[in-house]
Amino acid sequence: MGGAPGVNLHRDLLDPGPRRSDTIVMCRASQGGNRMPRRSNCSAFFWWQPSPRRRWPVSDRCDALQHLVDAGAFASLMRALVDTPSLSTSIERSGPMRKQERAKIVAERLQELYPNPPIPLRHRDPFTLLVAVVLSAQCTDKMVNKVTPKLWELADNPCAMSRRSEAEILEVIRPLGLAPRKAKAIRELSRILCEEYDGQVPADMEALEKLPGVGHKTASVVMAQAFGKPAFPVDTHIHRLAQRWGLSSGKSVTQTEKDLKRLFPESEWNRLHLQMIYYGREHCTARGCDGRRCPICRELYPQRRKPVVTRKA
Ligand code: SF4
Repeated sequence: MGGAPGVNLHRDLLDPGPRRSDTIVMCRASQGGNRMPRRSNCSAFFWWQPSPRRRWPVSDRCDALQHLVDAGAFASLMRALVDTPSLSTSIERSGPMRKQERAKIVAERLQELYPNPPIPLRHRDPFTLLVAVVLSAQCTDKMVNKVTPKLWELADNPCAMSRRSEAEILEVIRPLGLAPRKAKAIRELSRILCEEYDGQVPADMEALEKLPGVGHKTASVVMAQAFGKPAFPVDTHIHRLAQRWGLSSGKSVTQTEKDLKRLFPESEWNRLHLQMIYYGREHCTARGCDGRRCPICRELYPQRRKPVVTRKA
């Protein structure tokens, strides 16, 4: 057991603090061997074998506290574990608190802070919400709310909007970023809605995603906020919070969305999305933070010593 250039997982990678009984120790199994280390002090143990048929069995006892493994092997093992949804919760046993427990605390604290979070983009109906969300890309909601009343004066339904020229729409939305692209998308999506959907916004994720200028996140916002359907729209801000709170280690917003949906009950998705948006704006901005400033982080990670590193989506 053990590899020559090695790292001490217990000390260096998994548990910077004092020894705990719930520390996970990972060992590299000798070629196809099934030997367990001796002398136990751990309650969890990932047994890694190269065999494809027995890839990640987990034993609940480990006989030794400190084993050396090859650093490269450890990195690939961690990657594989993180990418293996059925085992992702087991990884949490390495920390002082499970991911599910952190999720519960986050939900409770956010509920105390924002019991009834309002929808930040002003709108009148699904169409005006859809347009407002398209306009909000790379732009603040405050700016969008300034511009949209004038846009609704120009046209507030798909057929009326499709009769307006791109130049007219652009003139109104010019103060926003990416205005020419957005004007083109708004006119085109309005035309499609008018001609193919009877002037209505479809309450259908797939149909929404096919509209110009409408990505998965925009479609999710419309499904949640216009139609009350369960969705968890994840943008870079939600992604950042999920990382900082240890709710996801996903490298993309897609993975983070999957992780959050798995952690929280469907009935809470829409509200939590809004609550996280408000918390991010108010407290947890994109600028660096050492992860010990707010009560939520202090509660989730009382032992945190090192600054958190956020992986950008
Ligand atoms: S302590 Fe930092 S990372 Fe944690 S919630 Fe506050 S601002 Fe965000």
